[in-house]
Amino acid sequence: MRVKNPDENNRVKISKLCNAVGLPGIIKEGDLTAIKLHFGELGCDTFIKPVYVRQVVDHVRNLKGKPFLTDTNTMYIGSRHNAADHLINAIRHGFAYAVVDAPVIIADGLSGNNYGEVKIKGNHFHSVKIARDIMDAQAMVVLTHVKGHALSGFGGAIKNLAMGCAPPLGKRDQHQGMQAEVNESDCIGCESCVSQCPFGAITMKGEKAYVDKSICYGCSACLQFCPEHAISFIWNRDVPLFLERMAEYALGAVLGHPGKVIYISFLMDITPDCDCVPWSDSPIVPDIGFLASPDPVAIDTAALDLINAQEGLSCSSLHCNHHPGENKFGGVWDKVNGRYIVEYGQFIGLGSMEYTLVEI
Ligand code: SF4
Ligand code: SF4
Repeated sequence: MRVKNPDENNRVKISKLCNAVGLPGIIKEGDLTAIKLHFGELGCDTFIKPVYVRQVVDHVRNLKGKPFLTDTNTMYIGSRHNAADHLINAIRHGFAYAVVDAPVIIADGLSGNNYGEVKIKGNHFHSVKIARDIMDAQAMVVLTHVKGHALSGFGGAIKNLAMGCAPPLGKRDQHQGMQAEVNESDCIGCESCVSQCPFGAITMKGEKAYVDKSICYGCSACLQFCPEHAISFIWNRDVPLFLERMAEYALGAVLGHPGKVIYISFLMDITPDCDCVPWSDSPIVPDIGFLASPDPVAIDTAALDLINAQEGLSCSSLHCNHHPGENKFGGVWDKVNGRYIVEYGQFIGLGSMEYTLVEI
């Protein structure tokens, strides 16, 4: 991230990366090009900066493609739960046409019902639900802010494809079998989790929260809001299966676009939480830089390795693993082995964990 002259500023770096990763060979004249990103939940401010996104838009336009920015509606209630709210949220975060020079299209429609089924040969799914406007795109540039996540350990390109290209029903498919439970001895009865549950699964029983497991879909909204870390899942049994389902959904998201998808990952503002929470905690490691690759498994593996190689920031939520080489997201979310998603992604043919870092 060091810069000392105008020829190396971040906009120039992104432009160089687009060329180096082969975008000119991927975008053909007239290609409707989905630039897939996360606009950030209202209150979060560490999503990818619109000025960087504009740089990618300009690149696609110069190649005579037709770029549009896109994401899908959330399963939980928040500022991105339907397309109307989602668009307003995107504009509030700077993704207005005047800034990014591309329209924003919420790919699964007003209420998340605009999707198609993609057949895959997975261990969990034979078909997955993918937002229709992402299926219909002729090329994709997947922009990912790499950061932590309470349930999956970290969020990278694979998660951006999996959850990010699925409508709410597809997100629910990925969360199936996950169920929250409250550790009563840790619960202080603050009731924060009750209003966060989109399915009304949490009620108070006396001074303790209670999860009705017949209603819970395991979305993890409550987990992220509990100030006492009193909510948990059956981490060893259920979370690896959740990561496997996400990798299979990611496979379905790109299956219809062979050779037409490029990934750019932003390793800056590496927060412990996902951009889907309405806040931004301080980063756990220093800013690192930008990565680009045609392979989602390789780019996520490289991102994890680069993040782990950093010295952890002492003023962050890292509670251990500060030394270079130690597992940084494990130092925040110690119950989750987030790296398993790249291992499983490689296993199902989504990509390869082998990579060579080429500095541009
Ligand atoms: S109880 Fe928690 S994990 Fe279950 S559906 Fe409600 S918010 Fe989601
Ligand atoms: S947010 Fe946590 S501490 Fe507060 S009521 Fe829910 S489980 Fe208990």
